[in-house]
Amino acid sequence: MYATTYHRPSSVDEAAALFTKGSEAKYLAGGHTLIPVMKQRLASPSDVIDLGKIKDLIGLEVSADTVTIKTATTHHDVAASGPVQRAIPALAHLASMIGDPAVRYRGTIGGSIANNDPAADYPAAVLALGATIRTNKRSIAADDFFKGLFSTALADGEIITQVAFPIPAKAGYSKFPHPASRFALTGVFVVKTKSGDVRVAATGASQNGVMRIAAIEAALKANWSPGALDSVTIPDKGLMSDIHGSSDYRANLIKVMAQRAVAAAG
Ligand SMILES: Cc1cc2nc3c(=O)[nH]c(=O)nc-3n(C[C@H](O)[C@H](O)[C@H](O)COP(=O)(O)OP(=O)(O)OC[C@H]3O[C@@H](n4cnc5c(N)ncnc54)[C@H](O)[C@@H]3O)c2cc1C
Repeated sequence: MYATTYHRPSSVDEAAALFTKGSEAKYLAGGHTLIPVMKQRLASPSDVIDLGKIKDLIGLEVSADTVTIKTATTHHDVAASGPVQRAIPALAHLASMIGDPAVRYRGTIGGSIANNDPAADYPAAVLALGATIRTNKRSIAADDFFKGLFSTALADGEIITQVAFPIPAKAGYSKFPHPASRFALTGVFVVKTKSGDVRVAATGASQNGVMRIAAIEAALKANWSPGALDSVTIPDKGLMSDIHGSSDYRANLIKVMAQRAVAAAG
């Protein structure tokens, strides 16, 4: 690990100002991605700006229509929240399946979606639920946020402040976890919105990161049941192939995980 200067700002404005001053600054949230990357010397930020102690960035609120999670809220706090469990049980379930307890006690929703790992869980929920990502500069719709592997619409120095999830009529999440890391070999989040629309997103499968699955959305719109997907075939074009699973295997996993997610959603 190279030498760096650690900062602990107490407000978002202070954090943004520190970022501008640093020659190659990086924000730190739970550190579960950034610190290992620094230890491996794959990143050497001049300044590390810790967002995890900014009170305005921690906590969550549930209203009649929306679950709003502030960026530095940990996976554990989302999984353990009674209001989230009642409003969007699939979201609390997803958070409860991330990594292991050590990861869940440190990792944050903002760090997860800013990093946009192609096998991370939260991007599937953000995309399928049609969430809005709020930053210190603007609001970004989920459909416009994820831009490919480890890439998002965030500008240099822009800070995610919170993620607002519309509460759906039904939602479910199912993932086939990698047995060591628990990252998704493939995970599928299915949503029926209150207006009857269906949105489905898969993580861990595509070479371009999280993606919507139009064929499954169409089948579930016609008939919201696991059986509606029996005749759906997912092409393996553009899916990842690695030592953990071929693209063909992942194509099948998308369908099977979607069926399980619909069954879980009820
Ligand atoms: C062993 C292990 C197992 C894991 N298993 C899973 C799993 O099963 N599923 C899963 O989804 N994830 C998994 N993770 C990832 C983990 O969930 C973390 O959430 C993720 O690494 C990033 O979140 P963080 O808070 O640690 O971010 P950090 O590592 O602190 O930051 C990550 C990146 O996001 C940027 N960033 C952070 N916050 C903001 C913000 N508010 N605005 C703008 N940029 C920001 C940082 O600058 C950095 O570039 C695992 C990690 C480990 C180490």
